[in-house]
Formats: sequence, structure tokens, C-alpha cells
Amino acid sequence: MTCDESRLLLHAYLDDELDAAQSVDMERHVAACPACAAAQREHERLRKALTQPELYRRAPEALRRQWEAPPAVAATPRRRRPLALAAAAGFAGALLLSAPTWLWLARPGAAPAALVDEAISGHLRSLQPQHLMDVVSTDQHTVKPWFEGKLDFAPRVKELAGEGFPLAGGRLDAIGGRSVAALVYRRRMHAINLYQWPADGADTPQSIAQRHGYTVIDWRQGGMRFLAVSDLNEGELKQFALAFDNTAH
Ligand SMILES: [Zn+2]
Repeated sequence: MTCDESRLLLHAYLDDELDAAQSVDMERHVAACPACAAAQREHERLRKALTQPELYRRAPEALRRQWEAPPAVAATPRRRRPLALAAAAGFAGALLLSAPTWLWLARPGAAPAALVDEAISGHLRSLQPQHLMDVVSTDQHTVKPWFEGKLDFAPRVKELAGEGFPLAGGRLDAIGGRSVAALVYRRRMHAINLYQWPADGADTPQSIAQRHGYTVIDWRQGGMRFLAVSDLNEGELKQFALAFDNTAH
């Protein structure tokens, strides 16, 4: 296993989602590679920190007053900051001061870091043998009806072979605690997972997140939330998302 592979599989490893052989490979690599061992420890530490309610402390009064002061008086205007960035920069402890901080951190319109992580984990899981598809078909008229009765909504299924992204099939998956449709498209040897589920609210433009060599594109359109995940390069995944959005069916 190379360092790149080890970093790609790290989240799946920590989620206990690798098969036995991959887990052994991972443990062997980490035992021999101080850099990956450090990365693993850091991820474990962060994950633990982010799930322990006792770490959420009330901010000192002076700091709270500074936050609550009108912008004209505040010494430094506070910017909303994506959680992952803050955590990576080592500011997690400083930012996780009180429960309302979570709300304050939420950036409207962009996929929360947890959702991006979950989408990538789901994508990795889907690439395990036998996990990718429950219905294997390049025909939308086969894939779409397959979801009937399995979900409380009808997913949008489009054939994009003409755009260079042939439909391969679909399966049920779970994101953010709800059942979602996952459509699988192909581009050369790459798989694209397109997750979708109903979401209230106005359409949002496509926003892109990059993590561990994966690209996630998130958007809302016509009452549906879409998350496209792949190890394809950003340009091609963007092309896919636009093709899906712009193709009528
Ligand atoms: Zn390594």
C-alpha cells in the first residue's frame, strides 16, 4: 500500500468499512510509515474531539462579549469559517466553545464537512466488491422503476452516455441518516456516485469540495439535493454535474 492509498482509505478504515485484507494492508503500512501513522492519530483525535459533548464549553465572558459586540466595535470582524478548515488549522478547540457555535459555523448553501465526509465514505464503501450496484443497467427505464417502493420519492434518472458518462446502475444508500438513491455512472475506469434525496428550499449553484483525492459536487435543483462523488478530476466531474443538470428526461 502506498501513502496515497493509505490516506484515501483512512476514513473508511476508521469507520471499520474496509475488508479484512485491506485492514491488514493498512495496519502494516501505518506500522512502517510514521507520516501516515501521524495522520491516522490526528484523524482519530479530531473525530473523538468532535463527538464528545463534554468538550463543548461555554466561552469565557470576555470572548462572548467580543463576539456579541456590534461589528463596528469588535476588534476583528469574525468570518464564517468551514469547520474542516478550522479543525485542520488546529483551531477546533478554540471554536468549539458553545453549542450555538455550531449554528454559527454552518455556511448556507455549502455541504457541511460531515456530509462531504459521509458522501466520500459511501463512495468508498460502494467500491468494495459487490457493493456498487443493486440494479445493474444502462437503461433509465430499468433503473428508475427499480427504486419504486424502496424510497418515499422518485429519483431523477438520466442517461448520459451521449455526454460521455454512461449510466451503470443504482442502489439504495444512506446519507445524513436518511435513505437516498445512489446512481452509478462511469467515466473510463472511474465510478461516479450521484446521491439524491428531496430537499426543501431554493435551487443552489453547484459547490465543489475536495478531500483526500476525491471531489464532491453539491447542489440543489427542483426540490432535490444532489451530491456527486468521484475520484475523477474536478473538471470532468463538473462536466458530469452540468450534463446531469442540463439534460431533460
Ligand atoms: Zn505512508
